[in-house]
Amino acid sequence: MRFLTLGRYSLGIGDRFAHQAKAQLETFILAARQGVDVIPVWNKSNREHVTIGSAPASTRAAADQAVEALNWQKPYHVDADHIRFDTVERFLPHADFFTIDVADCIGKPTDDGNARRFLDRHPELIGKLSIPDIQEPFRTDRAQVERVAQKYLLAVTEAGRIYRHINQKKDARTFITEVSMDETDQPQTAPELLVILAALADECIPVQTIAPKFSGRFNKGVDYVGDLAKFEKELSDDVAVIAFAIKQYRLPPTLKLSVHSGSDKFSIYGPIRRTLKRSGAGLHLKTAGTTWLEELIGLAEAGDSGLVLAKEIYAKALEHLDELCAPYASVIDIQPTKLPAAEAVNRWSSQQFVSAVRHDQANKEFNPHVRQLLHVGYKIAAKIGTRYLSALEECEQAVSRNVMLNLYERHLKPLFL
Ligand SMILES: [Zn+2]
Repeated sequence: MRFLTLGRYSLGIGDRFAHQAKAQLETFILAARQGVDVIPVWNKSNREHVTIGSAPASTRAAADQAVEALNWQKPYHVDADHIRFDTVERFLPHADFFTIDVADCIGKPTDDGNARRFLDRHPELIGKLSIPDIQEPFRTDRAQVERVAQKYLLAVTEAGRIYRHINQKKDARTFITEVSMDETDQPQTAPELLVILAALADECIPVQTIAPKFSGRFNKGVDYVGDLAKFEKELSDDVAVIAFAIKQYRLPPTLKLSVHSGSDKFSIYGPIRRTLKRSGAGLHLKTAGTTWLEELIGLAEAGDSGLVLAKEIYAKALEHLDELCAPYASVIDIQPTKLPAAEAVNRWSSQQFVSAVRHDQANKEFNPHVRQLLHVGYKIAAKIGTRYLSALEECEQAVSRNVMLNLYERHLKPLFL
């Protein structure tokens, strides 16, 4: 192969404070014992590194150590998540998976010549297009395809520029390429995805996962909000478009969808699972902040000083509500009136704190507002620094038990097992 290949099923996992890689990897071992190989990918974006004050080398070191300690023999990867041209550099020596984020270029005009050349190269995109496994053929005219090309070509060109930059510094056989367009307002339709894939093939990017924006809300750390039937149709059409594009444009046979902000979207795991089973397609699903929440739950569950620290983090997060929420405004829905006062939380028992934060929708004490606030509140723990890290080590048993339970029971099992 002329590029490093990604396994059929892979799960992106986040480990903000680089303390849970072993607990996380244990769950992939459990899945493998059940006969399903899921490839772990430790992802961390530049934004997370900057917020925490960590460096990409630490993600690599934590992953390598866990793999070594548990003697994991299958592939694993370290993802430079949501990188751009100006942020990719420091990831280059440590990552073997690059998520090229070009969402900011969507909708910015490309020059007319560029769009015209694209249309001339792709007459097959105009007219009636029948795609296996999609009931209704796409019907398009030149003006429509031109509008789509105008909307996405600059983003694809930018993906090409970033890909080639990475490839100048790294042998293509040593890394995996993902292109992400999810952090934008409007979902991409299946016909748009086809145009994007044709353009990515023109740029000679060996893209193995593509992250479109789906309809509905993918809020951080809580369940999907949207029309489930619509989501399932969208997913299934995208999967069909990808299978078609692999053949039509000679894209990597391993190309598959990547679902971002995928943690805790319990209501779409059923549709995802059905679609994978029916189509035989692969999937990359990214989770990230949910492990940090399990750390907090573990601290609270351990009681004593762990619980006190968890309450301190909540109090400080509440104090800095606006500042913490601002960068995540489009991916959280917090009603401030549903957030209990710090004094009230300070009276909570260990069980009450755990019930409020743990993502168990059947539990009446579960509070999605508290959960979302803490989700974006990792900066507070980063500021607390070594005191937080020592607490993680002191409460390691409770923390790793919760990290594993969440990843295995609530994610790997419903999705893949
Ligand atoms: Zn994303």
